[in-house]
Amino acid sequence: MDFRIDAEVEQLVGRIRAFVDERLVPLEPRLLEQGIGPLLPEIRALRSEVRKLGLWAPNFPREYGGLGLDLVAHGLVSEALGRCPLGHYVFGCNAPDAGNVELLHLYGSEAQKATWLAPLARGEIRSCFGMTERENSGANPLMLEARAELEGDQWVLNGRKWFTTGADGASLCIAMVITDPEAPPHQRASMILVPASTPGYRLERNTPIMGHAGQDLFSHGEIAFEDCRVPAGNLLGPRGEGFRLAQARLGPGRIHHCMRWLGICQRALELLIDRASSRQVSPEGRTLAHSDIIRAWIAESAAEMQAARLMVLHTAWRIEHAGARAARDDVSMIKFFVAKVLERVVDRALQVHGGLGMTDYTVLAWYYREERAARIYDGPDEVHKLSVARRLIGARGR
Ligand SMILES: Cc1cc2nc3c(=O)[nH]c(=O)nc-3n(C[C@H](O)[C@H](O)[C@H](O)COP(=O)(O)OP(=O)(O)OC[C@H]3O[C@@H](n4cnc5c(N)ncnc54)[C@H](O)[C@@H]3O)c2cc1C
Repeated sequence: MDFRIDAEVEQLVGRIRAFVDERLVPLEPRLLEQGIGPLLPEIRALRSEVRKLGLWAPNFPREYGGLGLDLVAHGLVSEALGRCPLGHYVFGCNAPDAGNVELLHLYGSEAQKATWLAPLARGEIRSCFGMTERENSGANPLMLEARAELEGDQWVLNGRKWFTTGADGASLCIAMVITDPEAPPHQRASMILVPASTPGYRLERNTPIMGHAGQDLFSHGEIAFEDCRVPAGNLLGPRGEGFRLAQARLGPGRIHHCMRWLGICQRALELLIDRASSRQVSPEGRTLAHSDIIRAWIAESAAEMQAARLMVLHTAWRIEHAGARAARDDVSMIKFFVAKVLERVVDRALQVHGGLGMTDYTVLAWYYREERAARIYDGPDEVHKLSVARRLIGARGR
């Protein structure tokens, strides 16, 4: 087994990591104090710089201006970008746009690609993905209720969505709606492209997360479709194939998320070590880093992160070589395993910072608040555990 990383990829990751640490991390105090709004002009300039450096959109296909990296290489890049909350956006591969680009690339018609994929891939517009509904269990998407009916040559959408990440400021919503209520359960939903300017499409509000109302790309919107009419040609992929498309979108997306979480863990561990080494806790000069308890946390965090990292890279490799279906259980296992490692490592780092950890004077509270959701979105932990266990039990003929 060869664990070496390709020299070219290693060099690329090094460049990206240096850019994140030198150019983006210094913006964090302003991000934490003022939110993303006032930073947007500077961020636009940084995005242009990233393009000029030839580092834009590492995972997008080359024909759309990206670097066309495979899953393993993009996983390593995603880890470097995860070191700062701005990383993925500045490099043009933030959620949910990255997943939406992938969907449009795989399933979009030529007209849809020209209208939406090209400007999205260039980072000129943002998009969102509306599937979850407040009144229905998102963990079981078969319970979706928002509908679209075909009237003549138009789809008419009605229903509500929430937790639509980045809806604030998005030009396009990919809506997952029921189009065929009488079909077998997994063939009832389709994806439809809804321009945000369509009459009947409304962003009602940004849902606050643990006391913080997000904005722009860091927001989660509640949206309503009220007799919202779009052309029949806005159907994305085949009718009734919404669930299949959603799975195709989520598989690689989970690799990106997990590696991003490991970037966050790495950053949190560095902050933990720096704080523990400098925080004096006795007049004789003992620091927190002298404590056996803190040392155990450091070692445990490093071991958990290494285990998680190897699991994710192996899963990415399996998807590349055996396909997403064969790697289903691997994907489920990394999703709940890494999310829990993230929670533990960020929590330890926050604890070591004491009262300071609870403030927005370090990035840890941001991570604690924003990333707790890792155990909920893209399938809650319990759902992934149940599906792994179901297959393992089934494999024993039970
Ligand atoms: C920060 C954030 C961003 C998000 N972004 C998006 C987005 O961009 N687009 C979008 O469409 N959605 C998005 N979501 C929604 C997310 O996908 C859902 O919250 C998720 O699918 C869970 O659905 P739910 O909230 O309805 O929880 P429920 O389905 O009500 O489940 C609640 C809890 O019950 C448990 N549970 C559920 N089912 C089972 C079971 N079978 N057995 C045992 N326990 C179970 C789990 O612990 C789960 O957390 C986002 C959510 C968050 C928090």
